[in-house]
Amino acid sequence: MKVLVIGSGGREHALVWALAQDPEVEEIVAAPGNPGIAVMRPAHDGQTIVCRSVDIADHDAVVALAVEFGADLVVVGPEAPLVAGLADPLREAGIAVFGPSKDAAQIEGSKAFAKDVMATASVPTGRAYVCTTPEQAAEAIDAFGPPYVVKDDALAAGKGVVVTSDRDEALEHAAGCEQVLIEEYLDGPEVSLFAITDGTTVLPMQPAQDFKRLADNDEGPNTGGMGAYTPLPWAPEKLVEEITEKVLQPTIDELRHRGTPFSGLLYAGLALTSRGVRVIEFNCRFGDPETQALLPLLKTPLGGLLYAAATGKLADHEPLSWKSAASVAVVVAAKKYPASPRKGDVIAGIEQAEVNDVRVFHAGTALDGDDLVTAGGRVLAVSATGKDLDEARQRAYAAVGQIRIKGSQHRTDIALKAARGEITL
Ligand code: AMP
Repeated sequence: MKVLVIGSGGREHALVWALAQDPEVEEIVAAPGNPGIAVMRPAHDGQTIVCRSVDIADHDAVVALAVEFGADLVVVGPEAPLVAGLADPLREAGIAVFGPSKDAAQIEGSKAFAKDVMATASVPTGRAYVCTTPEQAAEAIDAFGPPYVVKDDALAAGKGVVVTSDRDEALEHAAGCEQVLIEEYLDGPEVSLFAITDGTTVLPMQPAQDFKRLADNDEGPNTGGMGAYTPLPWAPEKLVEEITEKVLQPTIDELRHRGTPFSGLLYAGLALTSRGVRVIEFNCRFGDPETQALLPLLKTPLGGLLYAAATGKLADHEPLSWKSAASVAVVVAAKKYPASPRKGDVIAGIEQAEVNDVRVFHAGTALDGDDLVTAGGRVLAVSATGKDLDEARQRAYAAVGQIRIKGSQHRTDIALKAARGEITL
């Protein structure tokens, strides 16, 4: 199988790594890829892994690359090209694509659309008002009371949501958005559950938890994600079954009934509240950094799985199978992330870090001559597996300790509460 992976982040590096483990996958092109993917060694004889530079906003160029490469499967990593409709011209060219159409990607592209789908399908979520004027927003904010949850309706790369008890801050964020959602505050631990789907059949992965805030103890600003772990030892036994039945399957069925079937990865971000599971948000692609924690534990060959989803053949596919181990991914971010991440700092120590079941996935990195340097906010995800969360954590943090980047930041408490058994429902 020849696979083209679109994107350049840590998620795509992890996808390429996991695809390479699949014996059926012979050639991988990552476009544009990143310096970590560029130096990957093949996982089996005869396999090739290369990066090709392409502007992923130029859909014609991506289709031309896929045709020239003779891709059997295209995997679109990030949300922006999916919401912009990249999967559609690829499908029209007769190529199997893992990733939803432009219409189905609205489940992430518009929070108002997602709320409408959930209302129709009776999927449990927070009550919300869609507001288009500051006056409406103020009314909704006062109707709910603090803490206030204010969400930009449009795609905002993790920066569209403000959760605050400061009424002025809530109003200010609302005023900066064209259309805004004011939502009921949802209390309780958060869970990310990913499902592979062909538009009809849903195969859930195992749940993960991510850490959105910059600093330890969930302090500091929201980020794209500072770390993740899986599995969740504290989760109720039937959690995946319950979420599949109440959230994933009804959402996929509703999108199909609307004439916009969703094929690809449906990501449910959930809060386990005292009144039950509630959807916080849907995403239309693999989450970053949960993917960097999840994929090292997946036993099911990834290429065959994504191809089956892309070609509508998941009904015949076996349930996913997982290693009985634990996995922790710790993000190393650049100085001054997320406000104004510094670029150009030299990155050292990756080779020393990659021992003991540790993988270092690149995100915001670039080559400056022979030097690997920082080139974005989240620079690396250091992902480690172990027999339990404690061992995975120790390995991940030993590896993080090997990495040297001037002024870099990371959280020290990824998976800590879970490893100590301190999360209760
Ligand atoms: P989102 O981009 O919708 O995932 O929101 C980013 C983060 O904001 C989530 O991971 C939550 O931690 C928080 N958040 C979003 N919506 C709510 C809500 N209704 N109640 C509490 N926290 C929320």
